[in-house]
Amino acid sequence: MANDVGSTQPRDRRSIRRTNLGVVLRILRDSGPRSRAQIATDTGLPKPTITSLVAELVSLGLVSEGPVQREGAVGRPGTLVHLDGHHICGIGVEISTTYVHVLALTLTGEAAYEHRSAIAATRAGADAVLDHTARSVQDCVTALQRDGRGPIGLTLAVPGVINRLLGTVQYAPGLGWRDVPVVGELRARLRSAPFRLAVENDAKAGAIAEYAQVQNTDMRDMICITGERGIGAGIISDGRLLRGRVGFAGEVGHMPLGSKHRNCVCGRSGCWETMVGLDAVLRLAADGGDDLHDLSNGLETRLADLHRRAEAGDARIRKALDRVADDLGLGIALLADVLNPGVVVLGGYFTHIGDLMIDRVRHTVRDRVMAPDAGGCEVRLSALGFAAAARGGAYLALDAVYQDPSAHSEISPVSLCPPPLHHGPGCAVPGNW
Ligand SMILES: [Zn+2]
Repeated sequence: MANDVGSTQPRDRRSIRRTNLGVVLRILRDSGPRSRAQIATDTGLPKPTITSLVAELVSLGLVSEGPVQREGAVGRPGTLVHLDGHHICGIGVEISTTYVHVLALTLTGEAAYEHRSAIAATRAGADAVLDHTARSVQDCVTALQRDGRGPIGLTLAVPGVINRLLGTVQYAPGLGWRDVPVVGELRARLRSAPFRLAVENDAKAGAIAEYAQVQNTDMRDMICITGERGIGAGIISDGRLLRGRVGFAGEVGHMPLGSKHRNCVCGRSGCWETMVGLDAVLRLAADGGDDLHDLSNGLETRLADLHRRAEAGDARIRKALDRVADDLGLGIALLADVLNPGVVVLGGYFTHIGDLMIDRVRHTVRDRVMAPDAGGCEVRLSALGFAAAARGGAYLALDAVYQDPSAHSEISPVSLCPPPLHHGPGCAVPGNW
């Protein structure tokens, strides 16, 4: 994320101090460990001020100072300031149509807890999914406490149109949700949880995680495409997440690129996700009775099977992958013409079988984008896969520390009341995500 030195208007000495603490912390996050002298140069602040700010951040447990050997450097390691904050965690929770993924990251980006559980979310309904999510969060918090850590915030990542101010999912066609107040409902189930809860669109959260992977580069224009049953995009333009007028930016899965005879969950037909979503791949690859459609096998197991059979020369699967790759390239070319990204990252299921498609996708993009060499657009596979949205949620939860480091000096003890058990249909189905 870009440093924003001087972007706020402090009203008094204490708020100036808070702003400067955040500036130093963000520089360490974005640019890595550095000496106090380097921080003074980066911020334009006097060295005595930096010494005082670093001392306060050390006392808050957010940074440490010590000898660090820089990559490629020779001789004695220098004394550098670096992020610490191992006792502070942000929690990201992705609710997808097939699983709930809980991931806690420390301030340094270390995974302190991770668990993914299967749920047939569309069939279960919002109440059952939120019960399941609350229990998963409770397990996470208990594990963090056992390790002497505490959560400072939690962000839900949901595949739909979000109202972040109200904490609601306005419309999530894949889940069948309309106007679900997810933040309020989760808070009610967690009752006394003394940390901030928020909600974000899953593709946007995933894009934040992917963008964190290219820190320290000059890449500032990126499109991250989620590959699940639905297709969405998180768009980073000039280093900023693009939301649009009412947060709708990135709903690329419903671009009308396909046949009018193929119905979409949104109620229309011919949407891009009916051509390149997970269901399209499986439908084209095998008939209904094939093991690839057997939900009792986990999704990763089925994707590994599909990959193995394609490599073994299964003609129908190879043809299916070629067709999806062509349609994927077509949609990416359209996005590249409009947005001119430096990179398009393919996440979700694409990370499992995309190596069999990527050459064809790249060829179509080069062929269809108006600008020479596709306007410099590179298409690559995500390294995060299905973990991107939860990881992005955790980064968003941690962002509060960077906005006001002094507010996170002590972590309140967390006490959670267990949510009511749900015994209805569609509850957790282990291995079926
Ligand atoms: Zn649609």
